[in-house]
Amino acid sequence: NYWMPFTANRQFKAVPRLLASAEGMYYTDVDGNKILDGTSGLWCVNAGHGRKRIADAVARQLTTMDYAPSFQMGHPIAFDFAEKLGERAPGGPDAKLDRIFFTGSGSESVDTALKIAIAYQRAIGQGTRTRVIGRERGYHGVGFGGISVGGLVNNRRVFPMLPGTDHLRHTHNPERNSFVKGLPAHGAELADDLERLVALHGAETIAAVIVEPVAGSTGVLLPPQGYLERLRAIADRHGILLIFDEVITGFGRLGAPFAVDYFGVVPDLVTTAKGLTNGAIPMGAVFSSRHIHDALMHGPENQIELFHGYTYSGHPAACAAGLATLEIYEEEGLLSRGAELAPYWQDAIHSLNGLPNIIDIRTIGLVAGIELSSRKDAPGARAYEIFTDCFKKGLLIRVTGDIIALSPPLIVERGEIDTIVSVLGESIRRIS
Ligand code: PMP
Repeated sequence: NYWMPFTANRQFKAVPRLLASAEGMYYTDVDGNKILDGTSGLWCVNAGHGRKRIADAVARQLTTMDYAPSFQMGHPIAFDFAEKLGERAPGGPDAKLDRIFFTGSGSESVDTALKIAIAYQRAIGQGTRTRVIGRERGYHGVGFGGISVGGLVNNRRVFPMLPGTDHLRHTHNPERNSFVKGLPAHGAELADDLERLVALHGAETIAAVIVEPVAGSTGVLLPPQGYLERLRAIADRHGILLIFDEVITGFGRLGAPFAVDYFGVVPDLVTTAKGLTNGAIPMGAVFSSRHIHDALMHGPENQIELFHGYTYSGHPAACAAGLATLEIYEEEGLLSRGAELAPYWQDAIHSLNGLPNIIDIRTIGLVAGIELSSRKDAPGARAYEIFTDCFKKGLLIRVTGDIIALSPPLIVERGEIDTIVSVLGESIRRIS
């Protein structure tokens, strides 16, 4: 009677695989089999599993004070964590993205950012700007805001959407950019699609555009060189806020602390979760630029009576986990480790080029997407079989449709990268 997260996909009934414990790079299942974690859980366990320092910090906090509201009062640990995050905010001090709003998950961070964007526009006298724009093949969680701007068309068909949402065309084109190492050279002009939506709806109706700098869940889709810069410029031209959803790309995944640092493009709001607490305690955070924060909290229009906040905003145990996680990231240099390992990772993953059915390979930081051709009779079936086969052989990968995604913990060693590539390669060879 435990309802696993459902994927309403009749073809691949989820077979529960019961994981019993985890340490470092490995899970152990209920039968005692070790499984190399090629995905950091769900892209979140960036510092590896079972970090005692995080567990101890959480235990200490729970015995000191398990819970306290964040409304009308506060607790020092939430301020400590916000301060430390602020000092390490995306883009460094010049980007001024150091105002933090705590949430309980990535989906809550996305809803929060969309609401902040619309409320801010209203606060500066732009109350007609209520539309939010996403991008096809983007993933922004499962709140109504997130699915409305998200690019999963099936979700948008089933549920009612936020009124007025629309979507940029996606940038993915494996025919044009396949097997490129690093960012695709072609396609920056696809950012001009925002101009199309401005012409269609009128800039005065659009509050914000939200994109994942690198789309993760839908198959590791890298932005073409110059795309994000161009999107920033168009958004600026029309008074539209830019939101980066860094729930996956944040906290070292690309080999820089955030995608903002990697690409050198500064948005107005950044959503995070996952690696924020190393996956140990659910938590998210929105980084907001100061001018947005100030307009909402101190601006002349602050009379609009708004309420937004969660029971678990700034949860003491989550803040304790987050502080310990940040210490680990810094002491072990994990937020830049992906950059050191990227050449090795890239060469290892690209060595799979030439195996049957692979139509594209993409790598950035410590992420990889391997795209397979679709079996006409059963799209996604081949990748799913490879997933099952790898799992049996002790390797956890992730598949989405016909794309295999890899994102190992940032503590991964070269030997483990070799194992990932050889186990996966063997499965790809066998299942064709
Ligand atoms: N945004 C992005 C980019 C994500 O990858 C995810 C989760 N995969 C979310 C939002 C939603 O996060 P959560 O599942 O914590 O709600």
